[in-house]
Amino acid sequence: MAICLKCNDIFESLENLNISIAEVAEGFTLVTSINKLCLYCNEEISIGESYFKDEKNFVEFQNKAVLAIADSLSKQIEFCSHCKGIDIESYTYRFTKVEEYGTETFFLGIDLEGFLRCHYISYSLKELVLKQLECQYCNYGREPYHPKHNPNGGHFEITDRFYSQNDIDSFYGLDAKEFSKLAHGIELHNHELDDFKDYIFLNPLLAYRHEAGIKIFNILKKHYDKEQFTLIKKGTSLYRGRKRKIDAKEHTMEDLWNPGEGIASHGRYNSVGTSVLYCSDTESSIPYEIHTSPDDVVTIAEMFVKSDLKLLDVSALFKGFEGFINPDSLDSKILKKKYLLTNYIRDCCYQIGYNGIVYEGVHAGSLGNRYKNYAFVKFNKEKMLDIGTLKSVKYKVVYNQ
Ligand SMILES: [Zn+2]
Ligand SMILES: [Zn+2]
Repeated sequence: MAICLKCNDIFESLENLNISIAEVAEGFTLVTSINKLCLYCNEEISIGESYFKDEKNFVEFQNKAVLAIADSLSKQIEFCSHCKGIDIESYTYRFTKVEEYGTETFFLGIDLEGFLRCHYISYSLKELVLKQLECQYCNYGREPYHPKHNPNGGHFEITDRFYSQNDIDSFYGLDAKEFSKLAHGIELHNHELDDFKDYIFLNPLLAYRHEAGIKIFNILKKHYDKEQFTLIKKGTSLYRGRKRKIDAKEHTMEDLWNPGEGIASHGRYNSVGTSVLYCSDTESSIPYEIHTSPDDVVTIAEMFVKSDLKLLDVSALFKGFEGFINPDSLDSKILKKKYLLTNYIRDCCYQIGYNGIVYEGVHAGSLGNRYKNYAFVKFNKEKMLDIGTLKSVKYKVVYNQ
């Protein structure tokens, strides 16, 4: 009985992770001997080659190797679906309706299925490796049940995801470093921003009294005053959509404008009560942006930009920015925290004079091309923006996978 060192996927997986067989096999007998046939592949093991002397020996090796692979991979699992990722996932499910548009709407983190595939972990090893992965932050996974370390006592599933510190930071909004680049001489720090997020949750109307609140305003003001804003030129066409049920009344021109000031967001979290008009530069992104269901009809308006408009480009500041949401409609504390900050920025922009915000659309993956979204906060209806034509479209919902 002999088993060679060539026919099992595990060797390739080890090699790809730069783990040497000798390191794993330490303490095992890798006998060098005369030629024999491999129990698994039936190939000849030639003289001078190492091999496992029997199956028990090989299984012991495999167990050790799986641990070494899982150790190496676990280093990348800073946070997971069972700790800080919970907020990200509940948010994603809630606002992007994954069940309608497939799996591409996740904008943060990496799924374990893809992760193991990237590292050439073969099908036969996948389950073994999964059981040994461990989150660095919450210890979910390998460790058995422990009230503190692994309160769920579970193992990772292939559909679980993991996240980096960077993912977690960007989920909660602003990247302080990137934000500081908007204006010379004012430096916003991540710890100030963290403190500010907690502060505005408790004191939403006093945001401007916080040091970070003042810095945010001043950075945006300086950026604006130095005319570093992004312009959207007169004559540009944009698109805007509203959905309705098939049997509901058709939309009129007026319906395609944003709700009036003070109507959209009269909540206690909104001091300004700005109403936002969302547009996209790509017509085909509309059904994704407004989360169309199979029984919806979408009215699409072509919008015309009638004078140059000044915008704050937040593409580099927020990853996966999805617009402004009225926090009163949110029941979760985490999501309120997330939106209070973006809404504060919107209020600053409004006060300073920006006409709106431009950001990268998050459904580029489903759509097959990148596109931009616009959130206009301050504009004169018909003078700055106008509606051209309306059309009704019924989309066929395509299920990815
Ligand atoms: Zn073999
Ligand atoms: Zn975790």
